[in-house]
Parts: sequence; structure tokens; C-alpha cells
Amino acid sequence: MSLNTEHRTPNTTSRKVALITGAGRGIGLGIAQCLAKDGCDIVVCDIHEESVVAEALQSLRALGAAVLYCKADVTNAPARQQMIEAIKARFGRLHVLVNNAGVAPKVRADILEATEESFERLMKINLQGPYFLTQAAANWMVAQKKADPAYWGCIINISSMSSSVASVSRGDYCISKAGISMATKLWATRLGEFDIPAYEIQPGIIKTDMTSTVQAKYDKLIGEGILLQARWGFPEDIGRVAASLVRGDLAYSTGQVIMVDGGFTVQRL
Ligand code: NAD
Repeated sequence: MSLNTEHRTPNTTSRKVALITGAGRGIGLGIAQCLAKDGCDIVVCDIHEESVVAEALQSLRALGAAVLYCKADVTNAPARQQMIEAIKARFGRLHVLVNNAGVAPKVRADILEATEESFERLMKINLQGPYFLTQAAANWMVAQKKADPAYWGCIINISSMSSSVASVSRGDYCISKAGISMATKLWATRLGEFDIPAYEIQPGIIKTDMTSTVQAKYDKLIGEGILLQARWGFPEDIGRVAASLVRGDLAYSTGQVIMVDGGFTVQRL
């Protein structure tokens, strides 16, 4: 490994291209909008037909971004590869991968009763898919870096405070997110020599379709003071942090975890 003695700032000679999974709505769309505002071109990956996410794509184009939509399930290896090929064909470059797509269990079940079927579903979508998509993107990023020393890219994993906070009614979700935390460390370690940082954002309670089924529960908890900042988080709260990472504001902080949880995980006495 050679010693890197130069101070590098992210390459600004061309517009950055960012692939965000699950960006048809929710946190992923919030991230895509913040990156588009910052001058990135955007690849939206989601499982829906393009017509379902047309409004989301239009909102990104209205911000000046060139947008490519890839209907791809992150659990499907050929679909992941086709998506990488589609990005190569359209943009010829990729600077940012945001692993955002994820699901909650269909039923919140006590770990004394929860099923293996739910466990396997969450591991595939929340952990295995993003892990191997990162592998594909990372190989391309390394090739870009070797071809152009000024190239700068990064990986951002959207895990959850559930990677460290135990919820016994969704153990499968917690374990999948804890796995993402280790994946962040692994990719940060492997890609360090190429100066390609890997970061993790841990959202707290964010208002999206995912949390709409538990809105009353969280309204009550927030009202009772579970957070230091007594409000729901919004997709833009996550998007602004992602934009700061993509700008290179934390270029020398690979492997770091950024909590965006309104202070939920601050221990109090
Ligand atoms: P959401 O359900 O509103 O959006 C998730 C998006 O991912 C959807 O558009 C969905 O179609 C897409 N998706 C699902 N499975 C996919 C697959 N296999 N391949 C490609 N796309 C897929 O959820 P959200 O609240 O925006 O959550 C986004 C991420 O943030 C998830 O990883 C979630 O675990 C995490 N998170 C959410 C919260 C929260 O409070 N909402 C908190 C912590 C972490």
C-alpha cells in the first residue's frame, strides 16, 4: 500500500452521478432531492413501474438533475448487474452509492414467535442485496479511480438506530441493520487505499410510508419526551446529511456513523 501524502478534495470537474436505492419515495427520495439540489445527476432504483414513481422523478428533473430510472430489486443479482450496465451506458461514471432501500417486517412479531420467513426476507433486502450492490459499485469505483487519480467517490449506507437499539418486536430488522453497520466498516477498510470513504447514517424516527402504520405509537412516545428534539424526523433531515457527505465535507472520516435521530440515543440519567 502506498502512502497518500496529498490532500484531496472531491473531483469537481464533472457532475457527480449518484445511485440511490429505494428512492421512489421516503428517505431515498429526500436524499435524491438534496443531492440533485447540490448538482448531482441521479439514478433512482426502486421496484415499482416507472409510472408509479413518475412524480418523484419529475421533482428531481425540476431541480436540474439528469435522471435515470432503474426498476430493479436489490435482492436480484442479474438486476443489480443490469442496473450497473445501464448507468455505464447512460452516464459512463458513478461517484456515489446510497444503500437506502429497506423494509420493515410485514408483521411486528415478538422474537419468541417471529418466523424464519420474515428473517430471511429482511436479511435479503436489508443486508445481502446492499452488500453485493456495494461490491459491484465498489469494483467500478476502484476502476474509475485507477483510470483517473482525481476521481472521488463514496458509499453511504442507511442503517437505523435499530442497529444498536434492541426492539424485541422486530428482531429481524435490528439484526439486518446491525449487519449493515459491519458492512460499513468492512467497505471503509477495503476501500481506504483508494480514498473511497464508506459512511453510515443511522436515522431515528422518520415520517415516511414505512412508519405510517405506527404513527400513533410514535406520536405518543415523542409527546412523552423520548427524543431530545421533540419532533418527527423528515426525509430532508437525512438528505441534508447525505449531501454534506457527498460534497466531501467529511472526506477524512471514512467508516463513521452519523446519527440523525433527534437525540434518541443520547443516554440520560
Ligand atoms: P419507505 O418504505 O417509505 O421507502 C422504501 C423504498 O424502498 C420504497 O420506495 C420501496 O419500494 C423501496 N424498496 C423496497 N424494497 C426494495 C428492493 N428490494 N429493491 C429496491 N427498492 C426497494 O421507507 P423509508 O422510511 O423511506 O426507509 C428508507 C430506509 O431508511 C430503509 O432502509 C429503512 O430501514 C431506513 N430507516 C427508516 C426509518 C424511518 O423511521 N422511516 C428509520 C430508520 C431507518
